[in-house]
Amino acid sequence: MKLRRLLIVDGYTDEPAGLGVPPYLDVYSREVYGAMKLADKYSTVYYLTIDQVRSNRSLFVELSGKVDLTLVVAGALVPGRYLGGEPLRDVEELRLLKLWSNSPIALGGPITTYGIGGIGGKRTEIIDEDFIIIRGDLAPWFYQAAKYGIDRISSLDPRESYYLRSKALIRGTEIVLQHPNMNIGNLTLEIETYRGCARWVSGGCSFCIDPQYGKPLVRPIYDIVKEVENAYKLGVRNFRLGRQSDILVYGSPELGVNEWPKPNIRLLTQLFNGIRNVAPSLITLHIDNVNPRTIYEWPDLSRRALKTIVEYHTPGDVAALGIESVDPKVVKLNNLKVDIDQAIFAIEVINEIGRKRGWNGLPHLLPGINFIAGLPGESKETWEFNKELLRRIERKGLLVRRVNLRKLSIIEGTKVSYMIKKPRIAKGYESFRKYVLKWQEEMLRKVVPIGTKLVNVVIEKVERGVSYGRQPGSYPITVEIPQELEKYSWISVEVKRHHSRSVLAEIVW
Ligand code: SF4
Repeated sequence: MKLRRLLIVDGYTDEPAGLGVPPYLDVYSREVYGAMKLADKYSTVYYLTIDQVRSNRSLFVELSGKVDLTLVVAGALVPGRYLGGEPLRDVEELRLLKLWSNSPIALGGPITTYGIGGIGGKRTEIIDEDFIIIRGDLAPWFYQAAKYGIDRISSLDPRESYYLRSKALIRGTEIVLQHPNMNIGNLTLEIETYRGCARWVSGGCSFCIDPQYGKPLVRPIYDIVKEVENAYKLGVRNFRLGRQSDILVYGSPELGVNEWPKPNIRLLTQLFNGIRNVAPSLITLHIDNVNPRTIYEWPDLSRRALKTIVEYHTPGDVAALGIESVDPKVVKLNNLKVDIDQAIFAIEVINEIGRKRGWNGLPHLLPGINFIAGLPGESKETWEFNKELLRRIERKGLLVRRVNLRKLSIIEGTKVSYMIKKPRIAKGYESFRKYVLKWQEEMLRKVVPIGTKLVNVVIEKVERGVSYGRQPGSYPITVEIPQELEKYSWISVEVKRHHSRSVLAEIVW
């Protein structure tokens, strides 16, 4: 039977390269929508977020009765708390969806391969219940299901499948019209420029799923730009080139051959230039992951690549550096990327190019630092090494937009899942955590000093006399305004005080 009508429930995804918690919309729902439409333009695809289902169960029951299949997309594998939505992380909630649904339920996204959970300090849990489990790329599965029928699905080779997926993403932008954040104006599309990690040649970092995608596959510039153009024409104004392990090496001919490929400035410039040409009045164009080792190995080319990004992006951008730990023992055991000197060098170079303040009140491009606690080899000395990194940053007067300290979540199938049963957090973690919080507060004072004006702050939550807002973009700073404002209004504020991850501000009329 051909699949004609589908309901997608977006349980949100969060992976090392890719965010799908509102206001972000990740690739999964978009590729499914596009694949269905490419196969059969008369097919019908409904879209609900898991938060919409929670607040309006009868709508879910009704829509699930109108379709042949309900697809639940989920897999928030990176531990985190979110202002814009609460990911589906509990098997119990999946069981409830099955109970309420009037059509069979399929599961797709990272949840099917890596399990459910994504809670720091724990292992993910593989789903072994009675659902239709779709592993791997969703686009070829749904394309074939709509074109030939669910019983006639065959596997495609990865390259052919990537070609189809890339086209499906272009067609699938139409799904944004059903997304609740579209009317608010802060919907942010996570754009994929390539998949996989250059470090697959050495097996990659022990905890990461990215090397498991195999040899990196690069999306052609034409497809990326066309996708942005389609979304822009439909009204999307915020984009993040966040679905790749290192934006600096997009299009490098050495990607997939060398562990530390050299940046390809010509293609990177064409990519950013192409996006700005088709989306001239965009509000946000940000990046996500940058491999600090690329900057160390290729300093001059990296400077040029970073200059290109700063020329075409919007300010407030963050280059998230997966440093994880600078304890030499942890670095070695987990095949991490940089030692302390290499990390400092990368942070210095990003500051040199990106710290100038832009029109929305924020520095153009600053580094973000990710630490992971609980990796094999960790000891109480680990915190001293990591503290030393932070002290050196301070001494050198460098800026860092944010530090993310997470407990390791062991994802099934990664190297670390074979190395240890559960994460052991070394003694001294609590005091390091407190040190980081204090350090961050001091740093935030420098990144957005008192009196800084921030524009385009979107109010996302109003609770007990306080309004919470953020600018659209990569790792936005939470702004607290001590008055009840209209939810989803766009305002400008002036910074008055600092916490470790947020600022207290007053509205500027
Ligand atoms: S560099 Fe490490 S953490 Fe980053 S994508 Fe590659 S394997 Fe994952």
